[in-house]
Amino acid sequence: MLQIGKELSSGRYDVLIVGGGITGIAIAREAAERGLSVCLVEKNDFGGATSASTSKLIHGGLRYLENFEIGLVRESLAERRILGLAASHLVKPLPFMIPVLPWSKPGKLILRTGLYMYDALSYDRNRDVPEGHQIPGSVSLSEREVQAVDPMIASIAKGALLYYDYQSLHPERLTLAFLKSALQKGAVFYNHTEATGFIVEEAGGRRNLQGAEVRDTITGKTATIRAGITINASGPWMDLVLGLADRKSETKLSRSTGIHFLTKPLFKHNNAVLFRTRSGRHFFVVPWEGFSLIGPTDRPYTKHPDELRPGQDDFDQLFEDINDTLPGAPLTRDMIVDIPIGIRPLIFSGKSTYKASRRYEILDHESKGLHGLISVAGGKWTTSRQLGEDVMTLALSKLPDPGNVMNVNTGELPLFGSPGFGNPDDIYIDFSLKNFSTEGISPEVHRHLISMYGTEHTRILEYVHKKKALAKPVSDRFPTKDIMAQVLFSVEHEGARTVSDIIRRRIALGTYGLPTEKELLAVAQLAAPLLKWNQTEVRRQVKEALAEYPTELMGGKAQGPAGSRTTAKKSARTAAKKAVKKSVKKTAKKAARKTGKKTSKKAARR
Ligand SMILES: Cc1cc2nc3c(=O)[nH]c(=O)nc-3n(C[C@H](O)[C@H](O)[C@H](O)COP(=O)(O)OP(=O)(O)OC[C@H]3O[C@@H](n4cnc5c(N)ncnc54)[C@H](O)[C@@H]3O)c2cc1C
Repeated sequence: MLQIGKELSSGRYDVLIVGGGITGIAIAREAAERGLSVCLVEKNDFGGATSASTSKLIHGGLRYLENFEIGLVRESLAERRILGLAASHLVKPLPFMIPVLPWSKPGKLILRTGLYMYDALSYDRNRDVPEGHQIPGSVSLSEREVQAVDPMIASIAKGALLYYDYQSLHPERLTLAFLKSALQKGAVFYNHTEATGFIVEEAGGRRNLQGAEVRDTITGKTATIRAGITINASGPWMDLVLGLADRKSETKLSRSTGIHFLTKPLFKHNNAVLFRTRSGRHFFVVPWEGFSLIGPTDRPYTKHPDELRPGQDDFDQLFEDINDTLPGAPLTRDMIVDIPIGIRPLIFSGKSTYKASRRYEILDHESKGLHGLISVAGGKWTTSRQLGEDVMTLALSKLPDPGNVMNVNTGELPLFGSPGFGNPDDIYIDFSLKNFSTEGISPEVHRHLISMYGTEHTRILEYVHKKKALAKPVSDRFPTKDIMAQVLFSVEHEGARTVSDIIRRRIALGTYGLPTEKELLAVAQLAAPLLKWNQTEVRRQVKEALAEYPTELMGGKAQGPAGSRTTAKKSARTAAKKAVKKSVKKTAKKAARKTGKKTSKKAARR
């Protein structure tokens, strides 16, 4: 059985990786698949920093065409296809509308040309891709067609363009799918374990980095991890970690922060929309699990990455951008349920952070006289598999004694939990519902478990078979479909060590915005015997998990996209009464909706 996070102990490996975001984890997978011994240390939790604060897109990066970064866009589009094939349960197609606004720059003609290029650069996007995951070519929408989809957008847009990318449904689970693929091949992962110093030895006038001193930040235990090659994959901390070995390092990062608002839904339709603001910035409104995810911002950041928290300035900029761009200023503060924030680590280029390239950089410190260390910075979630492959190619050329290295192409391998490379998840869902349906688990919850765990969802069902009470929901707020069995699984088999680890990066509860204290107490009480927490620690864990949400900036109450289930029912009743009174209006709306359906089908066919 797979188990993450054994007790920390010293050891020697081929590869040591510092940093357990998607970059470090993708590198670990490449190393483990090739048969190398690998250890990864992460000072907080796996995928808990930048990798958890994305727009949830697996995308080519249409915007990068503006900077003529054709190579980056092509690479991203190729990786987009691979991720869709490797984890069809977690990666799904998503339509994007770009309304042509009077202040849009570039204008419609250039945008259209850009999308033709985007289509051309993803010429192989549907090769071996099952039907439900195929990506149609881009199309133009007339003003009438936009009207049918969204009258509010139509009131400011002179038509629109429609194209597709993929959405990462649960980026935290996709990160774990990479991690478990490596774990299956023997990689060792320690979370809450910080690299506190590097071991640098001098021999024959050469400075050789031999590994790192590490410390478990929860137990305080220390250990020495020696390795043939060490990879600094600490993202926004890259220059600080490098400073542990080489205080004179000339590598400078420029950091920029990006926030999103997770809000009650802004639109009724299920298209993502890419808006250009009057001042030339852009933001997405992405539909996700009944919410809207709106952002990101891009603001230079000069403080220590450990101090990251969204500030009033970040809030004001995004809030104003949204309400200045959309008619009727539709966003109110109480619609906001969370404000995720992340840092882009960008190699200093002198350009503004908005214009700086999202291409990754791999730095071999041998050229500066330090052997045995490679650093990585920049990049996108989407391209992390390719980044891992490139780092491993360089690392293999440097390893003193790599032994028998296997030749593998992870671009053709399924990720852990996937129904198979190129296999559609819908067939698997039907199969599982027929064969593994479990008393106490509704088809809705069953589907949720498959979308989070893929084929491994049967292990959660096993918990329920053994103890029916574990089918209990962790929350009665819509859209949470998590059950208590997942809490135990996350501690026993997925290395969760804090309440925050459980709710934000193992189950979905904490990704839907601020949870309630009652929900967290129930989670903590269930985890307590396994993690040896007394009641004081239970309360401390709950308090810490709640403090991670920036309630000082948002509405401050736990809520779903439509409030609690009872509130949703109540508002449905009120809506029904209103609907009878306004039957004439309703008929008109129905007609508009019908046109909308026709339009989107027509668009998808083209
Ligand atoms: C706002 C925003 C939106 C984005 N949206 C998208 C998107 O939609 N699609 C996309 O493809 N890309 C997106 N990106 C880019 C993507 O998020 C990043 O490329 C990716 O997450 C970088 O991962 P990473 O592992 O390099 O960094 P991180 O995820 O930050 O991981 C670095 C890790 O190193 C650890 N660490 C630091 N110091 C130490 C130490 N001393 N010891 C041990 N561990 C240490 C940290 O705790 C951290 O977990 C977005 C980025 C931002 C900021």
